[in-house]
Amino acid sequence: MNLDKILINLEEIVGKDFASNKSEELYIYSQDPGASEPRPVDFVVMPKTVEEVQKIVKLANKEKIPLVPMGGGLTLSGLVIPIKGGIVIDMKRMDKIIEINETSRYALIEAGITTGKILSYLKQHHPNLQPPIPDAPPSATVAGNVLIHGSGYLSQRYGDYGGLINGLEVVLPNGEIAKFGSCSVSNYWFGRGPIPDFIGLFISAFGTMGIITKLSIQLFPKPNMRDIVFGLMKDPNNIPSVLSKITATGLAEDVLLGMQDKPDWMKGYIFLMTYITGDAQEDLNDQVKIFKKIYRKSGARFMKAPEKLKELYLGKPIFAAGAADFRKGGGFEYVGAFMPLEKIPEAYVKGAEIAKKFGIVPTLGSRLIGGIHTIVMFFSYSFNRADPKDMENARKALHETNKLALDLGGIPWKAELTGQQLILEKMDPNYKKLLKTLKNTLDPNNIMNPGNWEVK
Ligand SMILES: Cc1cc2nc3c(=O)[nH]c(=O)nc-3n(C[C@H](O)[C@H](O)[C@H](O)COP(=O)(O)OP(=O)(O)OC[C@H]3O[C@@H](n4cnc5c(N)ncnc54)[C@H](O)[C@@H]3O)c2cc1C
Repeated sequence: MNLDKILINLEEIVGKDFASNKSEELYIYSQDPGASEPRPVDFVVMPKTVEEVQKIVKLANKEKIPLVPMGGGLTLSGLVIPIKGGIVIDMKRMDKIIEINETSRYALIEAGITTGKILSYLKQHHPNLQPPIPDAPPSATVAGNVLIHGSGYLSQRYGDYGGLINGLEVVLPNGEIAKFGSCSVSNYWFGRGPIPDFIGLFISAFGTMGIITKLSIQLFPKPNMRDIVFGLMKDPNNIPSVLSKITATGLAEDVLLGMQDKPDWMKGYIFLMTYITGDAQEDLNDQVKIFKKIYRKSGARFMKAPEKLKELYLGKPIFAAGAADFRKGGGFEYVGAFMPLEKIPEAYVKGAEIAKKFGIVPTLGSRLIGGIHTIVMFFSYSFNRADPKDMENARKALHETNKLALDLGGIPWKAELTGQQLILEKMDPNYKKLLKTLKNTLDPNNIMNPGNWEVK
């Protein structure tokens, strides 16, 4: 492999300003805001068109050099830090909003579109529509989020965001362009069927199956008003029954629970936030009455949400970013796991024990996905990036949490390398065999984010 020649080739493809092997430019790509150790990167390249992506993939095959697709790089689990070196392909220049279909309610966008950009575009041009976005900072891409089974304020109603993908355009590992979903047959990117549905192959694959260049995501009507019904409870064992009753009403837009020892008044409590929506204040008042009753009957105490807290939560995504820096020093590792509802009480108790064992302020949360069919549990460990011991503690806590999630019948979400291996150890052998066969068939040179989901 001739590294100088690869740089010249990359510059020929994207232009001199958008390919680099300079250490000062690679520095930022060698790490992420989570607790992963930095890893070396050889090149960064920023394509503008699908044809450029194709040429880069073909070059990577010829040179047998790894390629790591990157959106905002904000998963916190090291998923865009190359494991075996190579080229980081930063998608942010592919930032066109191609079509907003108001009637069929979807957005066709390029893969570099950030959640901040789609939000502000819709606000300005289609104020009656809202996109699925996470509580992550606005520089996270829509593609990066939906491709990791992301979730946010629409998930309780509509399921995880991976399920809201209507179609994909993908540069496959051999450099061919393929379309998936209705767009493979029709000019409309309205849905995934009725044909064999391969879109799942690219979700939570962490860039190992191809590079997504365009995607269509579902949009939803934007409510006039949104509010939070806030409650507190002491006993995590009450969680399944209260969630069961809340979801049975069909009224909640989003349901979030959490336990955090800061600020001090929250210590010892699990907070419960049901997001309600309506056209007018009377709609909201009626719903508050219903949920107050449910809370009371389920051992939760209704509380008028403090205005400051409401501001923080309704003004997403500021809250999550603020909570991320409890320790000061800019380190935030937040692991998640998709779990069955019945194991959530135990996850809260044991998750808090793990945090305390490693000297970390317990900060746990969970969000309903698709009613109560799945809960995504968050275990958040903030640390001081300037303190190596603190970082090591966060890594150890993360590992124990992954094991806990698997022991409780859950599956770690956006799992970092060691977490992926823990999942693979438990996976049905024939599922694993199929994964290996598909990967080897699509990517015989193993160039796409190698090291991830590696079946040994
Ligand atoms: C403060 C904070 C709060 C957060 N809150 C939430 C939340 O509420 N909900 C939630 O779901 N997440 C949350 N996250 C996690 C994460 O930031 C988001 O899920 C984010 O949207 C990921 O998008 P990204 O663009 O950063 O993805 P990246 O990290 O860039 O990529 C994610 C994965 O997708 C792959 N990938 C990216 N683009 C492509 C492509 N074009 N083709 C193929 N593969 C690709 C990458 O290789 C990687 O494996 C939060 C993170 C932070 C820091």
